[in-house]
Amino acid sequence: MVELPDDPASFREAVRHWLHEHVVGEFASLRGRGGPGDEDVGFDIRVAWELELAKAGWIGLGWPAEHGGRGASVAQQVIWAEEYSRAEAPARVNHMGENLLAPTLIAYGTDAQRARFLPGIADGTERWCQGYSEPNAGSDLANVATRARLADGRWHLDGQKVWTSLAHVSHWCFVVARTEPGSVRHKGLSFLLVPMDQPGVEVRPLIKITGSGEFNETFFDDAVTDADLIVGEPGQGWAVAMGLLGFERGISTLAQQVGFERELERVTAMAAATGRVDEPAVRRRLVEAWVGLRLMKWNALRSMGSGVPGPEASISKLFWGTWHRELGNLAVDILGGSAMAWEPAEGSTYSEHLTLEHKLFLFTRSDTIYAGSNQIQRNIIGERVLGLPPEPKIATR
Ligand SMILES: Cc1cc2nc3c(=O)[nH]c(=O)nc-3n(C[C@H](O)[C@H](O)[C@H](O)COP(=O)(O)OP(=O)(O)OC[C@H]3O[C@@H](n4cnc5c(N)ncnc54)[C@H](O)[C@@H]3O)c2cc1C
Repeated sequence: MVELPDDPASFREAVRHWLHEHVVGEFASLRGRGGPGDEDVGFDIRVAWELELAKAGWIGLGWPAEHGGRGASVAQQVIWAEEYSRAEAPARVNHMGENLLAPTLIAYGTDAQRARFLPGIADGTERWCQGYSEPNAGSDLANVATRARLADGRWHLDGQKVWTSLAHVSHWCFVVARTEPGSVRHKGLSFLLVPMDQPGVEVRPLIKITGSGEFNETFFDDAVTDADLIVGEPGQGWAVAMGLLGFERGISTLAQQVGFERELERVTAMAAATGRVDEPAVRRRLVEAWVGLRLMKWNALRSMGSGVPGPEASISKLFWGTWHRELGNLAVDILGGSAMAWEPAEGSTYSEHLTLEHKLFLFTRSDTIYAGSNQIQRNIIGERVLGLPPEPKIATR
């Protein structure tokens, strides 16, 4: 376990030294790889990388020490993120476990749940996926139809989830399911922790426009989980599910910004290499992107340490989703005509055929959709932050 010096300069030096010593060999072969649209690349090596990070105590850096974290300060977490970006260390594989489920368990879970699950996340051995969306419940998440009932001391689940990122490589899924028959909307839902490796769970991959198979359909056909693997009270899972979305939309983006920084550097270098940086319009967009990234970081820092984020996390989500999509547009605009026609490597697959810039452009279409689309974020900001009149609701029973 690496010592964490209190003094920021020594802390930065310790992080830099560790990364310099460890991003070597097969890990160095994945410098800057595995990010958005590139998730399939070197997955096994990235899993091995998680074990290296775990051994040194870098997973769960910001969790409180009493929950198995390192209790690092906000400033230390920022330094870690900056140095990670600078070292171009491989993209992480368990964002949903470390940054979404773990803070949710810390805020809403029982001691037994924290003791059972946080160590597996911190030691890099248990990966998680998010079972929220369904064919008829995306933006309208309260329309969830997956059912769960208690029988023989276990929850039995039936239903279908969709767009489940990394379900095919996850050990566990946190699932929003309807546990009160006949209930409607957000009442009667529960937040369940379900093992993926069982006969009742079937995962079917969906290939994205980037060619990568990051997400899936997930079918539950009498899938089971233990009766005590419910976070919060039965039927009260909506508050837990929304709490987790607050983490997803807000502060967890600090880790994501590591990748953004790297992408912006790459786009800037491309503008310099092609001479397009001399064009005022390109320079303006590069500067705007740089400023936007700083605003994003400061905003994330502002919300850090304030407990479970509220609806204001939607401001961050709307901002970063739009920012990232614009960066993808800029990358392709800089490439100009060569964005449309380029020489693929001999025998490459569709995914390999795409450059990182194409992947950035294509993947960032989805940033304004997942974790709640831009329209949904605007509704939340309008109604719950600004107090504007609500949109008309469809009458329910
Ligand atoms: C890359 C990616 C990864 C994802 N990973 C996961 C995952 O791991 N787990 C998971 O559970 N889900 C995941 N999702 C699903 C994601 O949360 C949903 O796609 C999203 O919530 C939108 O739902 P939908 O696709 O059903 O679209 P719909 O809800 O059908 O929306 C269609 C369009 O209508 C608009 N719209 C809908 N309702 C309103 C309204 N009330 N007011 C204004 N406009 C509205 C939306 O903004 C959108 O433009 C992922 C999605 C993507 C793209």
